[in-house]
Amino acid sequence: MRKYYVNKNAQPNGDHEVHNETCPRLPEVINRLHLGEFTSCASAVIVAKKSYSKADGCYYCSPTCHHS
Ligand SMILES: [Zn+2]
Repeated sequence: MRKYYVNKNAQPNGDHEVHNETCPRLPEVINRLHLGEFTSCASAVIVAKKSYSKADGCYYCSPTCHHS
């Protein structure tokens, strides 16, 4: 299980990136929302989409959930 976070600030394309706790690109504490602990990024993205309709996995830490 890893802790996952979503960036409160959208990317230029409107996506809110989902990161796990190990990511070097994890946003500052003030700019991220804790989603919970999950075994996969897919579950974290589902939860992120409850807050932000456009959410996508980070290219670096969650490449299997990165689509755009
Ligand atoms: Zn990341």
